[in-house]
Amino acid sequence: MMGHVGGADFIDVWGEDPKFTGPQIQFLLSSIKDYQLTHGSTLKNVNDEKLHTVQSRPVGVSLVPSKFPRNCFEKAVELQPVFNELYARVSTDEQWLEQELGDFLQENTFANILWSIYRGVRNDYGQMPQPISLGVFRSDYMTPLVQRGHNEEEPALKQVEFNTFSCAGATHANIVADMHRHLHKIGAYGSMLGDPLQTPKDLPPNNGIRGIVEGLKFAHNAYIETSPASNMRKGILMIVQPSNTNIADERPIEYALWAQDPPIPCFRVIFGGPAMRTTSLGENGELIYTSDTCAFSPLEVSVVYLRAGLDLEEYNHDGYHCRARFEESRAVKVPSVLGHLATFKKVQERLAMPGALEHFLDEEKSALIRSTFMEMWPMDNSERGLWGQEIATSEESFGHVLKPSLEGGGNNIYNDRIPEFWEQVPVEARKNYILMKMISPLPQKAMLISFKGSWNCQTVSELGILGVCAWRVGKKTEMLYNETPGWTFKTKPETENEMSVVKGYGFFDSPRLWDVDMNWEPAKKEAK
Ligand code: ADP
Ligand code: MG
Repeated sequence: MMGHVGGADFIDVWGEDPKFTGPQIQFLLSSIKDYQLTHGSTLKNVNDEKLHTVQSRPVGVSLVPSKFPRNCFEKAVELQPVFNELYARVSTDEQWLEQELGDFLQENTFANILWSIYRGVRNDYGQMPQPISLGVFRSDYMTPLVQRGHNEEEPALKQVEFNTFSCAGATHANIVADMHRHLHKIGAYGSMLGDPLQTPKDLPPNNGIRGIVEGLKFAHNAYIETSPASNMRKGILMIVQPSNTNIADERPIEYALWAQDPPIPCFRVIFGGPAMRTTSLGENGELIYTSDTCAFSPLEVSVVYLRAGLDLEEYNHDGYHCRARFEESRAVKVPSVLGHLATFKKVQERLAMPGALEHFLDEEKSALIRSTFMEMWPMDNSERGLWGQEIATSEESFGHVLKPSLEGGGNNIYNDRIPEFWEQVPVEARKNYILMKMISPLPQKAMLISFKGSWNCQTVSELGILGVCAWRVGKKTEMLYNETPGWTFKTKPETENEMSVVKGYGFFDSPRLWDVDMNWEPAKKEAK
């Protein structure tokens, strides 16, 4: 049941969890508002921007960290280096991608753009000009109940999707994790997490911002070490979208690069036309950045960190050519075009096929990774594809989600809306989709606030584990760097399907690690 945060009625619906009094909730609310305002836990109101000023609004957050099974969290962290390695290998395996994606590479417009950029550069140069790539990845999970033994159930770690491109949210998540720790310290949660002046053992540390910066620094230094000596200054370009409401997720990374000793220059450049006008290729394939507003102009670009270029609409003439120019240059890309292709949900579906993981990993690692997969179906004319199409056109569609090859939230079709939608998908477009079994995690009560209001309702949470890794293409892909610095954690009302916080569905939160015991009847009853 939805209710507003604040007032004594809240206490009745909190169930077995710690109870908060009206004054405690008021204290939490006023502390959170000020914390968000002073730490950039905000979205920019780009539509109201004036030359001399701009306003912002706080991102949606949870007042109290939500419970998340400790064993699932630990498993997700343990698996991340393996996922990093897997996706690094997928990102360098042209043959596997070509064989597994097949016609999709020709017929899916976006995939075809990336594939043709790759083939164009490889054919022109014989090999890719920069053998090193950096990945900033995020593996997203939920924890449904699965059968354990005869009569028991326990939460299991199940993957929603794996993101290799333009992963957002790490900075917001880092700030909200720090905020929840601060609220614990000032006693706003009472003794829920132990002695307020002791480090809370149930709130895992989150170093997402530092982790991304360390990865970029690694790539920057790797570029310098492997490049011919030159006198030009070296620096990073962060490629961004115009009028971006989510600068608070990007800017702190840039500031932290400048705050290194010695500073690592980092400039923001808008994808497409502006990037075309301010960059050029040097004699040895260097990417050169030239701009009136860059004090070091011309700058030799060590790393191109893409936080734009995720929407097909961005690939007009300039968009296409700027992406191709990056790929043609010797700069380290975050990620390369093949690395970008690896994020397509079609790849996730192919990796779930029997034997697919073993192409990249040993049996033990493959089994661990596979244990996190939900069942998926292609929607093509293969035997399995026809089976998927049968599900999509029947009552069986309930309990499934249909996903197009698009990113960024708001694109999926759920449950009984699938059959009607599927009827309207033109036959030639059908292979762009995958069908996936829905994950239904155990709901719990949470208090959520955003600039739109406050909610006290049943919610579900999604954990994203951040992976930062670098690899070098060669006969065998070599991992140069492989880290798991942090996480994102988002909570949404149970009635909501999507999770994007920026689009207003989800709320940033922190996992409160919880040792699942088998005597958790109250929680189970509440879930039903
Ligand atoms: P994208 O983030 O690229 O739009 P996702 O696959 O992450 O695509 O789907 C968006 C959201 O939809 C997820 O964050 C999750 O909340 C929900 N969702 C996606 N797949 C499932 C699933 N199999 N079960 C339950 N919820 C899902
Ligand atoms: Mg997602």
